[in-house]
This record gives sequence, structure tokens and C-alpha cells, in this order.
Amino acid sequence: MYENEKIVSVLNKLEEKIISDGKVLEGDVLKVDSFLNHRIDVEILRWMGEEFRRRFDGVKIDKILTVEASGIAIASSAALCFGVPLLFAKKSPSVNVTGDKLFSKVYSFTHKCWNTIYVSAEYLSKGEKILIVDDFLASGSALEGLVDLVSQAGAEVVGIGIAVEKSFQDGGKKIRENGHRLESLAIVESMDSKTGEIVFRHPRIIIS
Ligand code: 5GP
Repeated sequence: MYENEKIVSVLNKLEEKIISDGKVLEGDVLKVDSFLNHRIDVEILRWMGEEFRRRFDGVKIDKILTVEASGIAIASSAALCFGVPLLFAKKSPSVNVTGDKLFSKVYSFTHKCWNTIYVSAEYLSKGEKILIVDDFLASGSALEGLVDLVSQAGAEVVGIGIAVEKSFQDGGKKIRENGHRLESLAIVESMDSKTGEIVFRHPRIIIS
């Protein structure tokens, strides 16, 4: 590097939003209620859908799969951009879902309990090419449950799109080691609940 060069990191729209509006809580939780998990910023949602479309360009996708509740908004935006249907796994039993079901178990990072997730077997078919989308990736339990549902149906996971991956937790490593193509729009390398500092894994550009 020369004397008058400096290294800068260019933040994407989601990373900028996390820096301006996200809050780091104790217990490795990033709170994004103000634009993703409670109140929703639809412009960021649109950007995320388009960004997944761009990153998975050329990949044949028949359906998008997520899990309720907070994955649904992001996955809807992605489904609109890909022009494919969206299926979300349910957590609580519902009289609306009749017939054969596929079940899996997921440990909830935020609620600290096990949940059974399920989809109606008629909505996930053998041979279908599935893109899984979710809001966060921490330990990877939610994704493992969704991958399990896809494999029970005899369908194929062709990619996984995540809004925020926390790379200091081991989910991303496990998912990549299992050979999945994983695209995370923001990868948090570290965060500190005391100072509020959030560091992203990001390509750095040298400016002279
Ligand atoms: P995992 O199953 O990978 O451990 O956790 C993923 C799920 O837990 C996501 O579906 C998300 O709802 C929730 N989650 C994990 N970490 C966070 C976090 O830091 N902030 C928020 N808001 N949700 C999280």
C-alpha cells in the first residue's frame, strides 16, 4: 500500500441500515425490530429481494421456502423478484392445514426452546428446486430444519439466502461444509453489546 492510499469498506444498503437502526443486545442478539422483525421497511425488503435475485442469477428455482414468522416478509420479496411461489413452514398446529404433513424440529435461538415446524406435503414436491430464505443465521438450527423438510419431500435445496449471518456463531460454517450455496447479504463478524460496535465481513477497497 502507498502512503496516500486508504482502505475503505463500502457498506451495502442492509449493512447501512443495521449500523443506523440496529441495536446489539446481550446474548449475541442483533435487534432489528425497527425495520425487519416488527416494523418493516419495504424499501430494504425490495432491495433484499432484488439482491437475492442478482446473486442467484442463472440458478433454476421453482419455489422459495422459509419459516414463520420473521422469514416471511423477506422471502415474499424474494419470491416476487424470482416470480416463483413462496411456502413457509408453520410452527403452531392449524385447522387450515389438513392432509399429510412433513415435520422437523428446530431450536429457537431467540426463544430458547424447541419448536416443531411443518409443511403440508402437497406443497413441497419431489424434484422441485428450492431456495431457502430466512432473516438470520446463528447456530443454523432453523436452516437444518428447513433443509430436512426439503429432503423428506425429495426436493432439492439449490441455494440458501440469508439477510444477516452472524459469522461468530457456527451455523454458516456448518451449512457451507454441508456443501450448500449460502449467500448472506450482511455478515456480522463481531458485535459488542457494551459499545454497540458492529463489524461486518466485507470486501475492502483501496482508494488512492
Ligand atoms: P439459528 O437457528 O441459526 O440458531 O437462528 C436463526 C433464527 O433465530 C432466525 O430465524 C431468527 O429468527 C432468530 N435469530 C437468531 N439470531 C438472531 C438475532 O441476532 N436477532 C434476531 N432478531 N433474530 C435472530
